[in-house]
Amino acid sequence: MNRPQVVIIGGGFAGLACARGLAKTKADVKLLDRRNFHLFQPLLYQVATGALSPANIAAPLRSIFRRQKNCQVLLAEVADFNTVDRKVELIDGRSVPYDYLVIAPGSTHHYFGQDEKWEPLAPGLKTIEDATEIRRKILSAFEAAELLQPSPARTALLTFIVIGGGPTGVEMAGAICELAKHTLKNDFREIDPRQARVILIENSPGILNNFHDSLSTIAKKSLVNMGAEVWNNTRLTEIHEDHVIVTQDNQSMRIDSHTVVWAAGVKASPLGKKIVDRLGAPASLDRAGRVVVDKACAIPGHQEIFVLGDAASFTTEDGKVLPGVAPVAMQQGRYVGELIAGTLKGEAISKSFSYLDKGNMATIGRSHAVVESGKIRLSGGIAWLAWLFIHILYLARFENRVLVLMQWFWNYLTRNRAARLITNVESQVK
Ligand SMILES: Cc1cc2nc3c(=O)[nH]c(=O)nc-3n(C[C@H](O)[C@H](O)[C@H](O)COP(=O)(O)OP(=O)(O)OC[C@H]3O[C@@H](n4cnc5c(N)ncnc54)[C@H](O)[C@@H]3O)c2cc1C
Repeated sequence: MNRPQVVIIGGGFAGLACARGLAKTKADVKLLDRRNFHLFQPLLYQVATGALSPANIAAPLRSIFRRQKNCQVLLAEVADFNTVDRKVELIDGRSVPYDYLVIAPGSTHHYFGQDEKWEPLAPGLKTIEDATEIRRKILSAFEAAELLQPSPARTALLTFIVIGGGPTGVEMAGAICELAKHTLKNDFREIDPRQARVILIENSPGILNNFHDSLSTIAKKSLVNMGAEVWNNTRLTEIHEDHVIVTQDNQSMRIDSHTVVWAAGVKASPLGKKIVDRLGAPASLDRAGRVVVDKACAIPGHQEIFVLGDAASFTTEDGKVLPGVAPVAMQQGRYVGELIAGTLKGEAISKSFSYLDKGNMATIGRSHAVVESGKIRLSGGIAWLAWLFIHILYLARFENRVLVLMQWFWNYLTRNRAARLITNVESQVK
């Protein structure tokens, strides 16, 4: 008898949890990813600011599934779907047949309709390449400034702009401050890196808006104490090679800077639109381009196709759409793994997916973080320790956990960021 074929697209948090949940089944699981590694995105900002190396926060998918004999990892980019013949179509023209299809390709940057113009000027943080590109831009700006006499051009090089006051923007702004004010402070002869300006631009009146007001206020104070400028109620209108234009109180302002980091928004993977187009109604997308799923995380009318994590729009009993965060992706992955496993055993599973919200956390810098879980609200050193513990716990692979822990301990003692490498440079010397 042919074994059921479960195809999972995406080895991120959702896909990984789902594949693991199918370990003890009689299905053949094919995990397709265009990358050969699982990436722990929450620590990308540390790669972008030289605190960690890329390999510290990534784990090869093949080694993760080495012992799960029913799971085959395929390095493959999915381009489309043939839902009539039940096949996933790959970018190289091959196809992979499925009985059950789990779509978990995550999200990409969203530049509010300005993608082509803004993306090359203000890289967002989503992949290892993004992180090393941001690292290159930040470190190169200090290097270029060292070659100049005091001048507006030098000031522009030492001005760093982060767009978006959510967790990623706050983490980036805090980490650039630490880099400039502590790590690099004795490394240059012409410039004083402590003079660098780090400006966080946020459209709304606060930062970390999904946190309680008190924590949002504490986070802002901590960032300012670390040396960042937080510009609230400020809208970005233009980005250029050497400056940005923002609007505050209906007045336009120019800020000269060569380093702009985008942390203002993501949109769902384009694969969501592909599957909805192929299936037609009742399959649909929400306004953020995520596939609307039912209580079992399946596409309505297609109980064999599931969409998970950042690519899915799941509405809870109380009418809230679940956010694009790692715990949602992991819990959905586990749930769908169990659901398919149960179905294969002939068990009727009627339980809907329900999300256990354990809270929010964001770090601002050394010994500064905010944590919110139910009625518990923490900030400062204790919140930072909680943040550290949770991030170590969820890093894939024991080896990465040990290495990151040691690296953090060393960074804490010395304020060093050893991975300050300028890579991706096209040499001028032939
Ligand atoms: C900088 C940053 C910081 C974050 N910080 C936090 C945090 O502190 N806490 C938190 O809870 N969440 C955080 N998040 C969000 C969290 O990382 C996401 O919600 C989570 O990764 C979503 O999991 P996923 O499985 O849906 O997608 P992902 O983890 O993004 O995985 C998607 C996978 O699909 C693959 N893929 C995509 N398209 C294709 C294709 N066409 N063919 C084949 N493979 C494909 C990708 O290579 C990737 O491996 C952060 C995200 C970012 C970018």
